[in-house]
Amino acid sequence: MTEIRPLRESLIRWYMANYRDLPWRKTTNPYHIWVSEVMLQQTQVKTVLPYYRMFLRRFESLERLARADLQDVLKVWEGLGYYARARNLHRAAGIILNHHHGMLPDGWEDFRKLPGVGDYIAAAVLSIAYNKPYAVVDGNVKRVLARLFLMEEPVNNSTSIKKFKEAAGRLLSTQDPGTFNQAMMELGAVVCRPKQPLCKACPIQRMCLAYESHRVGEYPKKLKRSPAPQFNIAVGVVFKKGRVLITRRKPEGLLGGLWEFPGGKIRDNENAMDACIREIKEETNLSVRVDMQLDRVKHAYTHFKIVMDVFCCSHVSGRVKLNGPVDHRWIKVDRLDHYPFPKANHKFFPELKKFAAKLKNGKYS
Ligand code: SF4
Repeated sequence: MTEIRPLRESLIRWYMANYRDLPWRKTTNPYHIWVSEVMLQQTQVKTVLPYYRMFLRRFESLERLARADLQDVLKVWEGLGYYARARNLHRAAGIILNHHHGMLPDGWEDFRKLPGVGDYIAAAVLSIAYNKPYAVVDGNVKRVLARLFLMEEPVNNSTSIKKFKEAAGRLLSTQDPGTFNQAMMELGAVVCRPKQPLCKACPIQRMCLAYESHRVGEYPKKLKRSPAPQFNIAVGVVFKKGRVLITRRKPEGLLGGLWEFPGGKIRDNENAMDACIREIKEETNLSVRVDMQLDRVKHAYTHFKIVMDVFCCSHVSGRVKLNGPVDHRWIKVDRLDHYPFPKANHKFFPELKKFAAKLKNGKYS
């Protein structure tokens, strides 16, 4: 049986001497801690760092965020992915400003019911910002627990979360829960790594059952997942009088609120060009002619992959009537950077900008 107290003490001592120097560890501002935790969900530290700095430069207070236009928030978030996080953060800031006098709630009930605040965010923010005794369970923590206690529950199965929460709760230091939670997450990130964990440098090695039984490589257990499906997409950049048509996705769902070019899935037995013409007609009511293929880009989302054929099209007839998107603009290509777009779209922007630069007098069709 693992001794809990020495384990906690060893872990916290190690963390205090070794933690990485990260900007959100130098602040006690609950809003800043909240922003960092939201960004860090399913995203690596090195990816988050520039976004965290940019975001807080732009929205340095909760009030500033609450009063911002959602499009400006999405623009700063552009490229970080999982855009529901940004939309929820923005909405929650508005609720806090209006119903909690602009102060991040310090109670589980009030904080947990804000948009986008799940158990993980609630436990992380309340423990780190307010020293409340809630145990954090993320992917790193689950891996450490699975190895430490030889837990058989698969880490990628939602039904096992209860067991991991119980185990984390038993370990939690109630005196210093914020530091303890950060120590567990840090250990998982830098020592008890998914591959080649640094057991020799691990502060809790002598309490670790997987290490003791030479079975580290067998943990954590995982359910086998089927490979991510691939979708073939056709997208059209519709030119009219030197401008291109962009459309805005509805505010909720995948990539909600972002701008894009009209297009969609290629049907079975349909070629990409026909799909492009059909999708543009269905989404925008415009009849277009496909002039050339601009690019083919590949992009992987969490649960699926896409191959996107991008075409340059000329407007032939019709006025825009949207079916699906909630807004549209005709803009010059050099204005693209003023709108938040999904990463997959950014992959063909260089080709599009080169193409637009070559057009005579900026005119096309
Ligand atoms: Fe992880 Fe190895 Fe430490 Fe065990 S001894 S917790 S497997 S790093």
